[in-house]
Amino acid sequence: MTNTHNITLIPGDGIGPEVSNATKRVLEATGVRFNWDIMYAGIDVMEEYGTPLPEHVLESIRKNKVAIKGPVTTPIGCGFRSVNVALRKQLELYACVRPCKSYKGIISPYQDIDIVIVRENTEDLYAGIEFEKGKPQTEEIIKYLSEKSGTKIREDSGISIKPISETGSRRIIKYAFELAKKEGRKKVTAIHKANILKFSDGLFLSIARELAGEYPDIEFEDRIIDNMTMQLVKKPQQFDVIVCPNLYGDILSDLCAGLVGGLGLAPGANIGEEAALFEPTHGSAPKYKGMNKLNPMAMMLSGVMMLKHIGEPEAAVRLEKAIAEVIAEGKNLTYDLKADSERDTAVGTSQVADAVIEKLENIK
Ligand code: NAD
Repeated sequence: MTNTHNITLIPGDGIGPEVSNATKRVLEATGVRFNWDIMYAGIDVMEEYGTPLPEHVLESIRKNKVAIKGPVTTPIGCGFRSVNVALRKQLELYACVRPCKSYKGIISPYQDIDIVIVRENTEDLYAGIEFEKGKPQTEEIIKYLSEKSGTKIREDSGISIKPISETGSRRIIKYAFELAKKEGRKKVTAIHKANILKFSDGLFLSIARELAGEYPDIEFEDRIIDNMTMQLVKKPQQFDVIVCPNLYGDILSDLCAGLVGGLGLAPGANIGEEAALFEPTHGSAPKYKGMNKLNPMAMMLSGVMMLKHIGEPEAAVRLEKAIAEVIAEGKNLTYDLKADSERDTAVGTSQVADAVIEKLENIK
């Protein structure tokens, strides 16, 4: 019998509580013991705590060092930035890891894909350094930049800043190579637009080339982002680990999720020195709230990643196998994984959990 693991569980909102409950049930059915510290965040706790991310939620994650989270809505124009971005920033979860894998039975023109996207999570255009059109500060910046660069910037511009540091690049690229080494993967591809963005993406690329020299057993290549989107659509099987600055990583994660069956199958992890937080790539899909309709497998597969992280690799293999068997059987699937002609045979979120648990019982 293994130890009991203390894990922070954030159910989230929208479809979050439904996919979280389904995931909690299948994780418990692996036989691994959990002591869940259930923490609420998001708009529902605003009134009580005056913030969507109360300090006790962060404290719980810092104490347990591992969290699993359902999606949380970021309301537009209501005065707070994303809870998801805040969690990544405050806990310095610098690596976003998103595997995209073909499972037998998925309706997709592509087979045999097994890609892991490693996305930098703290810098780039997501650093939140923005200047709104027409504000006095923006005018000052425009004047300063026009003078220093010798390039005229239109006065009616909005400005978003793209910082990419050597420290941030080194940390994420090293993480990608170490992940490739640990998982016995063969190749790392670094993504950039260094031909145009010489001092931000160019820096990222030069660090990638330097670090590649420290891993002679792992093949290294780089690709310009526009070429990469075309290559991924033409022949995704040629890629293994992909390491990207923040924005390209965000876009490629969704592209790759689409290649292997959609957001319902796209898990993720946000990893830092201090803590790790596992969550599906998809959002809270508010219009489906409480309908027991959407696919819990992206969050379940995030649970598989969590099991590996906490040192329960056998349970991780069993749970992934159970999910794969349910997909291959094609019966107990939500509507997103059904052919159009079979949509009326789709089951709900909780029935998917029942089916996975039944499979788990037969996998030793
Ligand atoms: P979304 O991912 O919530 O939904 C977009 C569409 O994708 C849905 O309408 C649905 O058709 C499909 N979809 C999503 N999850 C699915 C699942 N599990 N199974 C099957 N189909 C699924 O994206 P959105 O509508 O752009 O965002 C809704 C809210 O979620 C926003 O407030 C956004 O900020 C937030 N969000 C949160 C996270 C997070 O918590 N990490 C991530 C992305 C978006």
